[in-house]
Amino acid sequence: MVPVSEPDDARLYFIGRIHTPWSERKDCPRQGKQDGPECRVEIFEPWVPALQGIESYEHIEILYWLDRSRRDLVVQNPGHSDKTFGTFALRSPVRPNPIGTVGAKLLRVEGPNLFVRGLDCLDGTPLVDLKPDRCAFTPKATPKN
Ligand code: SAM
Repeated sequence: MVPVSEPDDARLYFIGRIHTPWSERKDCPRQGKQDGPECRVEIFEPWVPALQGIESYEHIEILYWLDRSRRDLVVQNPGHSDKTFGTFALRSPVRPNPIGTVGAKLLRVEGPNLFVRGLDCLDGTPLVDLKPDRCAFTPKATPKN
């Protein structure tokens, strides 16, 4: 553990909120699965028009803020091992800037809501960004406009 200053310089916009079936860490998968439960990614105004064209993609990257993580561990003992690892050698939610990423399957878009499979975060997790999956950067069809 190291002493850390109060984080005050990130200035992220939380652009939405993620709705999942999991309210406790013990129930949440460690990594999302493409056949996991359908989850809803809600986009806040004024960012809803930024979804234009995203429906063309089958897979998207979702970046979120692991808001219930501690942020002061430099080394950790993950549950799956009896060894100690550096934080940057793990995908643990415990990290100085707790950003999580998944590649999710995009099922459909309804107004400000995206329905996806493949998530692994707690209900209410703040959304940081969405991007087309880099492997699927060519859309299924040319986005209209
Ligand atoms: N897939 C992401 C990644 O690799 O960057 C996150 C992986 S992390 C191992 C997923 C775990 O983080 C979940 O199993 C849960 O224990 C924890 N977690 C999920 N949502 C969280 C949140 N909002 N705040 C803190 N911890 C969370």
